[in-house]
Parts: sequence; C-alpha cells; structure tokens
Amino acid sequence: MPIRDPALIQIAQRRRIVVKICRECGARNAATAEKCRRCRSYNLRWKRREIKR
Ligand SMILES: [Zn+2]
Repeated sequence: MPIRDPALIQIAQRRRIVVKICRECGARNAATAEKCRRCRSYNLRWKRREIKR
C-alpha cells in the first residue's frame, strides 16, 4: 500500500526534500514511489536533502 498521505508529503517538503534513489540505475524517484520508474526495480533507498535557502 503506497504512502500517499498529502500531510506526510507536506511535512517532508517543509523539513527536508525526501527522495528515493534506485540502487540499480541511480535514478531519483518520488518519496511515494515503491519501485523505480526507470528500471522498475524495488531496490530503492532513501535520500534526504536539505532545502536550499
Ligand atoms: Zn532504477
């Protein structure tokens, strides 16, 4: 069941930019993604980036 709660997305955007990086091809996916949109791999890892001011 994918996480699509808008409140969680807003919190993530407020504090940090949260993305998922594919370990297979290195593509950047949305935080709501469960699998890579490029190679369709489920081997994703979280990546947190600070928001530039
Ligand atoms: Zn991939």
